[in-house]
Amino acid sequence: MKNDFSESFNINRDGWRKGCNAVEYKLIRSNRRTIGIEVKPDLTVIVRAPRRATVGEIERIITEKESWIRKHLEKMRMKKEQLEESGVNLLGDEEIRELTQRAKEYIPGRVRYFAGIMGVSYGRITIRKQKSLWGSCSAKGNLNFNCLLMMTPEDVIDYVVVHELCHRKQMNHSKVFWNEVGKVLPDYNERRKKLKDYGSILRSQ
Ligand SMILES: [Zn+2]
Repeated sequence: MKNDFSESFNINRDGWRKGCNAVEYKLIRSNRRTIGIEVKPDLTVIVRAPRRATVGEIERIITEKESWIRKHLEKMRMKKEQLEESGVNLLGDEEIRELTQRAKEYIPGRVRYFAGIMGVSYGRITIRKQKSLWGSCSAKGNLNFNCLLMMTPEDVIDYVVVHELCHRKQMNHSKVFWNEVGKVLPDYNERRKKLKDYGSILRSQ
């Protein structure tokens, strides 16, 4: 997944409005050869497409896969509701493995991207399931991220990535530290609040 974050954007797909159900998807173009669709736990639909695919081609595939997408959206919605209601819906081993795998594919690219912008270096990246931490950064610059981050929206994941990378400049949470976070993500406070809303996911696992 090279550079696949640089061309992401949102499309409201009016043609898909049926009754009151409008579905929105995020289109991410990259150097891949086929069109792939993924329904994320936060109920966003991600469509990955080759750079040269036309909107018509993409929309045709989405239409073909519509019932699959709806089925998965419904499944994710039910899971999300359960999680919000009980806060104790334990994920199975299979789901944890899946989240870990997805985190391994997704997070290093974001780290590379933001480290480049910020001009910082880093060491190893590990993905683990943890109960109390979303992420951490060691004195040597090794980064650790919680696989449960994959259950939160992308802007929240980016916040955690930038937060940990800012520890490469400041190993504390001083004013100077938050200043550095703000330079990269001016809206970091909103993202931070959003992350807190997902705290129950963390505590429940
Ligand atoms: Zn921190």
